[in-house]
Amino acid sequence: MNKIKAHIISHSHWDREWYMPYEKHHVKLVKLMDNILELFDKDPEFKSFHLDGQTIILEDYLQVRPEMQEKVTKYIKEGKLCVGPWYILQDEFLTSSESNIRNLLIGMRDAKRFGKVTMVGYFPDAFGNIGQAPQILKQAGMKGVAFGRGVKPVGFDNQVLEVDEYESPFSEMLWQSPDGSSMLGILFANWYSNGIEIPVDEKEAKEFWDKHLKDVERFASTNQYLFMNGCDHQPVQKDLSDALNTARKLYPDVNFVHSNFEDYIDSVNAALTKQLSVVRGELRSQETDGWWTLANTASSRIYIKQMNQKNQVALEKLAEPLSAFASTLGYEYPHHLFNYAWKTLMQNHPHDSICGCSVDEVHREMVSRFEKSMAVSEELITESSKYISEKIDTACFTSYGSDSKPFVIYNTTGWDKTGVVEVLVDIERQYRGALVASYEQMEAVDISNWVLVDSKGNEVEFSIEDLGSNFGYDLPDDRFRKPYMARTLKVTFEAEKVPALGYSTYALVRSNNKNVMAKSLVTSENQMENDYIKVNINSDGTLNVTDKATGHTFEDICYYENVGDIGNEYIFKQAEEDKAIVTKGMAADIKLVEDSPYRAVYEITHCLIIPESADELLQEEMKKTIVITDRKAKRSNKTVELKIVTLVSLEKGSRGVKVKASFENKAMDHRLRVLFPTELSADTHFVDSIFEVAKRKNKPSKSWKNPSNCQHQQCFISVDDIECGLTIANFGLNEYEVLRDGRNTIAVTILRAVGELGDWGYFPTPEAQCIGQQSVEFEIIPHKGNLIDSGAFIEAYQFQVPFISCQTAVRSGTIPAEQSFLEWSGSSLALTGVKQSQETGDLIVRWYNTDVTECNLEIKPALETHKVYLSNVIEEQVSEIDKQEPGQWSTKVKKAEIITLSLS
Ligand SMILES: [Zn+2]
Repeated sequence: MNKIKAHIISHSHWDREWYMPYEKHHVKLVKLMDNILELFDKDPEFKSFHLDGQTIILEDYLQVRPEMQEKVTKYIKEGKLCVGPWYILQDEFLTSSESNIRNLLIGMRDAKRFGKVTMVGYFPDAFGNIGQAPQILKQAGMKGVAFGRGVKPVGFDNQVLEVDEYESPFSEMLWQSPDGSSMLGILFANWYSNGIEIPVDEKEAKEFWDKHLKDVERFASTNQYLFMNGCDHQPVQKDLSDALNTARKLYPDVNFVHSNFEDYIDSVNAALTKQLSVVRGELRSQETDGWWTLANTASSRIYIKQMNQKNQVALEKLAEPLSAFASTLGYEYPHHLFNYAWKTLMQNHPHDSICGCSVDEVHREMVSRFEKSMAVSEELITESSKYISEKIDTACFTSYGSDSKPFVIYNTTGWDKTGVVEVLVDIERQYRGALVASYEQMEAVDISNWVLVDSKGNEVEFSIEDLGSNFGYDLPDDRFRKPYMARTLKVTFEAEKVPALGYSTYALVRSNNKNVMAKSLVTSENQMENDYIKVNINSDGTLNVTDKATGHTFEDICYYENVGDIGNEYIFKQAEEDKAIVTKGMAADIKLVEDSPYRAVYEITHCLIIPESADELLQEEMKKTIVITDRKAKRSNKTVELKIVTLVSLEKGSRGVKVKASFENKAMDHRLRVLFPTELSADTHFVDSIFEVAKRKNKPSKSWKNPSNCQHQQCFISVDDIECGLTIANFGLNEYEVLRDGRNTIAVTILRAVGELGDWGYFPTPEAQCIGQQSVEFEIIPHKGNLIDSGAFIEAYQFQVPFISCQTAVRSGTIPAEQSFLEWSGSSLALTGVKQSQETGDLIVRWYNTDVTECNLEIKPALETHKVYLSNVIEEQVSEIDKQEPGQWSTKVKKAEIITLSLS
């Protein structure tokens, strides 16, 4: 055998914020960076330092050490300081598909600007890895991917003949995405600290290397051994060169090099002779006992997840598409502001941040970052929608008289959309004179005799709420602010089939016609129905939901379950001797609260009595740092009330039942879920993940010991028995479980209240108890067959994205009163992003194939388009797509492919 080459890679895994608030870790980071740079200056043998795969470290350092910019750049260019490819080390499952891409796009762009990107996908500490990571990283040109979790290394000897799907004999393997693209994967089989604090002293060094060489040998497929010289927040080892000289003296047969990731991966590729095993798709620690997957971070501090989803939607599903469309009409796409908003949002995406598994100060600062990013998105939404609205021809409303009040409804999702929308319309504004006087004048405005019409002249059923006189202001680009008083009406109606990636125009017009309210959706007591669905509310507040397409009824679904939780921010553990408290079978107060032709809403109220916390033993167990699996605390005998108010709505054109539940949490150490017994026979289910509708088994592997099998979801979870299916969409509720109860019950976590961080010590987190007012939203979607063929996934994705409205004036314009900016077709494709490329100015549009069969994508842009390119995820053009007909392009999309088109 050739001589063993030991690659020592110096690094420090830098959690930006975690068991200390950001600024405390920041202080230590500045010291670390100072020391690294000093070591480069002084020790020519100290060849490289891997800066944890995230470029934000450079920003954080240079913010307080701007004078070091030149030195940092020099060492990056020389290949000594290895940076990128990510902006931050995200939690892959808890950040959106587009966020995962932007993290790479922005991180690589920044690293390039400093001089050089390290072309290795890096997930040292991610709590499981998404199945599409190899495809994404391959498109971005990465040489390989290194990760710490998800696959169980089993080692190899002659006895091991067969390994399970998520086990690997070697620390090296091929990792394959569902589309078939695969990449060399390096698992930190001995963790990313297996070369930490290497002794200089010969005796100690002998002991160290004898052990660590053997540990690596157990899993190594080649003679290229990897030693990670660092750990979490590890200071740089200043005497590493001496330590390596000692090692060289002790082991003349081993070639010790101070290496870097790219060299290491090149060496592994060159030395590979053995057949590597292939691991496919998601790496969720499937072949473990299930206790340490850290999947319950998906339900830790749900308020953080909800804010994150709201921010992601505002940025990627509203502000970007609207700005991109506006830019085709002359609007200057604000790349700088988008980068700023994305970076601010992504500062909340590191695994210890978005996972909700840090101390309270960290999550308090996150709230403020969410607010900042949101404010930028809101400004850009307002600005771009106003820009487009001013180009729209609304002359069709002229015939209704001069005081017609037109407004535009934007649908930025990838499919035509029908749904109830609430629009604020100022029917008159007074800019002149004192505001006080204007207030009175506006109060006197006649608000009678309005009807709502669409741009084709059809009257639309609506309801109106008078919001009285309201202060407002304009901020013109070239003049001083203009305050006004307005008389405002809130108009509610169902917008029907608003074009995909487009808009429709409506107007409130004066008319003596009565607003005729057609029949109600309420068809009997506690029963409502539309063309697709019938909902019956049972006396315990559970729902019977009938899908009219199949005639199948899901009975007694949507009830609440409360249990004790004596775990921490990472892990759920049910309290000892705990019996779940459920609302099923319990009397509920049921009231009809809205009954209009376009929507019926019932309010269901439950009053549960639940234990106020765990018993005193839990405090002791936490302080003693008793490992979760050994804890014995029970729930307390003292109780508090948990009142849950559930609004169940059915809209006229909707294929799902929308639910909003609100409650005030007064209890600690518990978990609240909403349960949907599907009674469908199935061994697997489908769940929205990152650029993937992942198929997962309902039952975990034989090695799984944890009674809980909670997993991550993005927008939905779905169970079907081929004939019928039930999909539950959610907004920012990232944890679900398919219960092993013989009924395939879908459980979605809506609150998890715990009192400590967990992991390596005792860190109390009283705010993780989530005391106070909470509200959650989800949609129940029954369907025929599976969620892809039935199109239920479209309803679920659309549930995430609101309509945007913008009041405008009656005027002639350059674009029609209703249109789609980009028509496209491809039945199993899901559109994930529309933006402008910073590098080329092209329109970037991205989809992924939800299905495992090939599909055809056709596009027909409304704007003048010269060329269409297939692009990669970092927006580099790959190949030109042939024009099918004038103004129309088409291309094949492979199974599970992520496809990005760039339109010139
Ligand atoms: Zn970490």
